[in-house]
Amino acid sequence: MNEQTLSLRLERVAANIPQGARLADIGSDHGYLPIALYLRGVIEAGVAGEVALAPFHSAQGKVRKNGLQAHITVRHASGLAAIEAHDRITAISLCGMGGETIRDILEAGRERLRGDELLVLQPNVREWVARGWLAANGYQILHEEILEENQFTYEIIVAQRGEAVSYSPEQLYFGPLLMAQRSPLFLAKWRLNLQRKERVVARFERAREVPAAKREEVGEQLRMIRQLLA
Ligand code: SAM
Repeated sequence: MNEQTLSLRLERVAANIPQGARLADIGSDHGYLPIALYLRGVIEAGVAGEVALAPFHSAQGKVRKNGLQAHITVRHASGLAAIEAHDRITAISLCGMGGETIRDILEAGRERLRGDELLVLQPNVREWVARGWLAANGYQILHEEILEENQFTYEIIVAQRGEAVSYSPEQLYFGPLLMAQRSPLFLAKWRLNLQRKERVVARFERAREVPAAKREEVGEQLRMIRQLLA
């Protein structure tokens, strides 16, 4: 992967960034996504935010190498603190992190959100935690997709503040649109997950000290997965 050739996962994220957007890519690592989108003429301007020094320097180097300093600003910052009002950001991408990290970044940076930005989220795990934040904060899920790369499945969630929508626990867990589509990849993901959860529950039964809340969480997830696949 480089700034010209994105991974399939980032390519699908890129496909969800609107033409003419002003993008803030938070947790930008090498800055590949905003650089590729600027070079392709998709975004008008970009901010690459990175909390860790090595990837921050890498993103700075890649922006310089491509001569894009006037168009892509690389900031060493945690979460949405990388965004400044004068950036006039219209889309924010948060990719390749866990659902909890995405939720924490959005929650900590709420005052940096204008309210009309498109959020393009690609949680690697615990996607429902990110969806839970969206639902609790008045966001509507506009689009979802699932893809497979190097034997991992990834989900992409596109959301914007809109009319109040209430999602059921199942919709938050599986994704309201993915759940309605029931694509072969989606069903394969949850069949595999069913086997994993059954093994976890079997281990819980042998283990002595598993917190009750954990048992309940996994038990409820197992119930929802069984119902989905019934
Ligand atoms: N977004 C890229 C992608 O999807 O390929 C990079 C994913 S990489 C696994 C996650 C990146 O997020 C790391 O570079 C990490 O330093 C950064 N990160 C984690 N927490 C962050 C935060 N609170 N603010 C900014 N960056 C963060």
